[in-house]
Parts: sequence; structure tokens; C-alpha cells
Amino acid sequence: MEDCVFCKIIDGKIPSEKVYEDDDILAFKDINPAAPIHVLVIPKKHIATLMELKSEDMNIVSKIMESIQKIAQNLGIDKNGFRLIANCGPDSGQEVMHIHFHLLAGTKMGPKLCHNSR
Ligand code: AMP
Ligand code: ZN
Repeated sequence: MEDCVFCKIIDGKIPSEKVYEDDDILAFKDINPAAPIHVLVIPKKHIATLMELKSEDMNIVSKIMESIQKIAQNLGIDKNGFRLIANCGPDSGQEVMHIHFHLLAGTKMGPKLCHNSR
């Protein structure tokens, strides 16, 4: 996808601070962190939103979850924990139309996210 920021990061056309990479998944630091640790985990395949995942893509979701376990161990946040957020569509405020999971950690987090709290 030509105009997709995250596809450009995957292609190396936009720099990023990578924290994990394999054949299918890339994870890098969020440019505007909302927590001491804020990593974005994305599939290398361009899929705009979670609602556009097809049944043949569902293996990507397991790969993302597997990579999140590895990333959490690598970053040493597997014991203290983390929060995982996936925005989908306009009401969520999704800005980048390439599926991504926000991995937030490194601090005690407050109550669940709700109206206008991001
Ligand atoms: P969302 O609102 O869920 O679409 O989140 C998009 C996230 O991508 C935001 O937290 C941005 O800070 C982050 N972001 C946008 N451009 C970049 C970039 N070039 N490198 C790293 N993170 C980015
Ligand atoms: Zn993309």
C-alpha cells in the first residue's frame, strides 16, 4: 500500500526503532508514546482494520499474539504485565489504517479506557 505509513516502515522507507521482527510481524516503538514502554505490533501484510481480516488471515492474529509474548519477555514486562489496545474504525480514533496492536507497559495503569480518555 503506497500511502500507508506502516507499510513504509516495513519497507524501510520511514525509519523506526524496531523491537521485534520475523517473516510476518514487525514491532517498533510508537513515535508518540503514551506510556514508558509503547510498542506497536503489526502484521507485514497490509490489512486496514480488524474488520477486514478474512478467515484465511486469522493465522496472522495468532502470530501477533505469539510475537507479543516474545516481545514482553524480551522487554522484561512479562511478569509485571502490559495493556494491549487495538483501535478499529472511526469511533476508536484509529489513525493509521494498517492493523496494529498498542503494547503499553512500564507503569501502573489506571482504570479502563473510556470516553475521551486517550
Ligand atoms: P491509532 O490511533 O490506533 O491508529 O494509532 C496509531 C499510532 O501510530 C499512534 O500512537 C502514533 O503515535 C503512531 N505512529 C504514527 N506514525 C508513526 C511512526 N512513523 N513511527 C512510529 N509510530 C507512529
Ligand atoms: Zn499498510
